[in-house]
Amino acid sequence: RGALYLVPTPIGNLEDMTMRALRILKEADVIAAEDTRNTKRLCNYFEIETPLTSYHDFNQEQGGEKLLHMLREGKTVALVSDAGMPCISDPGKDISMKAMAEGFAVVPLPGANAALTALVGSGLPAQPFLFYGFLSRQKKERKESLEGLAKRHETIIFYEAPHRMKDTLKDMHAILGDRKIVLARELTKKFEEFLRGTIEEALEWANSSEIRGEFVVIVEGADESVIEEEVTWWSALSVVEHIEK
Ligand code: SAM
Repeated sequence: RGALYLVPTPIGNLEDMTMRALRILKEADVIAAEDTRNTKRLCNYFEIETPLTSYHDFNQEQGGEKLLHMLREGKTVALVSDAGMPCISDPGKDISMKAMAEGFAVVPLPGANAALTALVGSGLPAQPFLFYGFLSRQKKERKESLEGLAKRHETIIFYEAPHRMKDTLKDMHAILGDRKIVLARELTKKFEEFLRGTIEEALEWANSSEIRGEFVVIVEGADESVIEEEVTWWSALSVVEHIEK
């Protein structure tokens, strides 16, 4: 009987590929990839010769039908996105639901994910947390979403593109007020760094720097103390860069 595996791939460091993920990619009949060229590079690196097919946001109908057809033929399909976990701000939910509806096993593999890695490294409470993902690109919708989040007590995790960071931090400052924030940049990569400070400090930094790289933005929940007196290292947007040998 066909099975759909949801296979996480590294978010930077290729060593974060798990042994099980490698085995599933090798043994699957087909790898459905968000970007086949990108996944081809990963496969070449790990000497995986499984055929690739395309499955992304813009061919969910057609691509999905093709994958369901393979599942009906008893094939094993491994779904990967460009980086991290499929389904987490990435394609995967649609085909998973269709496969489940037809009674196929949908098997999620644990592995690399930017949100949880950032949360764990942030120093902010790891539970309860709320994963928001990307805010809307539209100013009005982005503001409305932030207004809806303003009273939540959970630590909130956002994904954001570098070129939208200034606008997002500006809206966060206006709507959430000043709170602790952590910008987790280039996780697992050579120049990984954590910037810890307040939203105001982050905004000042964003206004005076060229913002590059990939970011997870973690904001503390409502009603937490903004800066605890004793935690002196937290202020002034301290930057901790770590270069792994
Ligand atoms: N599916 C992925 C996951 O499990 O984390 C997320 C894919 S989403 C399209 C891409 C966003 O994830 C980026 O814009 C950034 O916010 C975040 N991201 C991915 N890799 C990252 C990294 N190495 N460091 C920091 N953020 C990262």
